[in-house]
Amino acid sequence: MDTLLDFIEKVVGAKNILRGEDVRARSTDWITKEPCLALALVRPASADQLSQVMALCYEADQPVVTHGGLTGLVRGAVAASNELVISLERMAEIESVDPVGGTLTVQAGVPLQIVQEAAEQIGMQFALDLGARGSCTIGGNIATNAGGIRVIRYGMMRDQVLGLEVVLADGSVVSSMNNMLKNNAGYDLKHIFIGSEGTLGIVTRAVLKLQPQQSASQTALVACDSFESLVGLLQHMRQTLGGEPRRI
Ligand SMILES: Cc1cc2nc3c(=O)[nH]c(=O)nc-3n(C[C@H](O)[C@H](O)[C@H](O)COP(=O)(O)OP(=O)(O)OC[C@H]3O[C@@H](n4cnc5c(N)ncnc54)[C@H](O)[C@@H]3O)c2cc1C
Repeated sequence: MDTLLDFIEKVVGAKNILRGEDVRARSTDWITKEPCLALALVRPASADQLSQVMALCYEADQPVVTHGGLTGLVRGAVAASNELVISLERMAEIESVDPVGGTLTVQAGVPLQIVQEAAEQIGMQFALDLGARGSCTIGGNIATNAGGIRVIRYGMMRDQVLGLEVVLADGSVVSSMNNMLKNNAGYDLKHIFIGSEGTLGIVTRAVLKLQPQQSASQTALVACDSFESLVGLLQHMRQTLGGEPRRI
């Protein structure tokens, strides 16, 4: 095992492979705060480094668990003592902004809120929003196909992703960094990975679709006395308000 970790250390540098107490000092579940039990935690800086790390793990039959912002509610990021954690915390850059095409190209470790703020700076908005926005990452949002509080109007995370780059278990890199809204060329591989909770590959980069900012908004507190009246209210708003409600 030490041999594998030593090889990985050569790829990411000594500072970026945590062992022993440095791993226990981190928790993997924000509700229970239980310590991370993984045998080591690796922090690659690029898809290339991650690809090399995954190839080494594949050769050694070493299971891995990916960590984003650790805000997931179903313990998908909890690692057992025989597993290695791959943290995307060093891959957290917004690589490019395209105000004309309305896209952002980002690394998977960027927190959702940073993406929202980058979109606002160019007069647009990123449609996904959820309470964990300050901590959850775009990679985690993609891996869980997050829904959030604007889902009725804008859809799930799946609907906000134009392109994706993923590192597979054997270290190969699948790149479909498409940035066009209209693209029907061949298989749309990204959809296999979105919502796969890291079981099929580790998301490293994404092209995100932006929406126009809303020029005005109004807030109302509406109480419904039955499920039927709630559905009726939604239908009524769709027909009369020129669009869906933004948040529910
Ligand atoms: C206050 C609060 C509100 C929330 N509201 C919502 C909501 O409205 N809708 C909703 O859907 N969820 C919600 N969640 C759940 C959670 O925030 C989302 O699931 C979020 O998308 C997880 O992102 P993360 O970066 O924290 O992922 P993590 O918790 O780190 O990981 C979640 C899963 O994704 C995998 N993963 C993480 N990064 C990657 C990657 N780069 N590549 C491959 N796999 C990866 C992990 O292995 C794990 O299985 C909420 C959570 C909190 C705490």
